[in-house]
Amino acid sequence: MVDTQGPDVCACERCPALVESRSRIVNGTGPDDAALLFVGEAPGANEDEQGEPFVGRSGSVLDDALRDAGLVRADVRITNCVRCRPPENRDPRGEELDNCAEFLDREIDHVDPDVVVTLGKVPGERLLDRDVGVTSEAGSVVEARLGGECRRVVICLHPAATLYDRSQREAFDEAVATAADLVGAGESDQSRLGDY
Ligand code: URA
Repeated sequence: MVDTQGPDVCACERCPALVESRSRIVNGTGPDDAALLFVGEAPGANEDEQGEPFVGRSGSVLDDALRDAGLVRADVRITNCVRCRPPENRDPRGEELDNCAEFLDREIDHVDPDVVVTLGKVPGERLLDRDVGVTSEAGSVVEARLGGECRRVVICLHPAATLYDRSQREAFDEAVATAADLVGAGESDQSRLGDY
């Protein structure tokens, strides 16, 4: 059964290879009304195990960049283009991206973010519908029609790229800071968590 109401998917079986390789479907996390939406590629082993996007080493890189930008994870929405772990962490295939696009579109519609950040080449090219040079374009703010609306998109490297090549870290952090600035994050001294 596919949930047609909310942004979550509960039992999709559209991609046979991913149904085989996944332990669970990894839906987006974070507020339903977040101003900032981060979109990655697909869950890896840690995400597949814990059922949450970006909880492994890439997630720590993202958490650090958020903190430096005056945010915490609970302030933002984090999701992926594909919600099931591909076998051996291969890139999601075109038909898998197509099969999952409806869920991502629905999530974008539902959350209605002010700014979308694409984490890596796969989400960048998918959401902008063109070739993207993530290194040369990192930090660029562009507009795209997403989930029925024209939205600002910040092109960003995948956090894992900074683990392979430490020199990419500054560009990654700067792109996250740009996105945070666009939504006015850090203007009040506290993240939402400070209220609790
Ligand atoms: N890489 C991604 O693209 N998404 C995740 O959730 C984790 C790692």
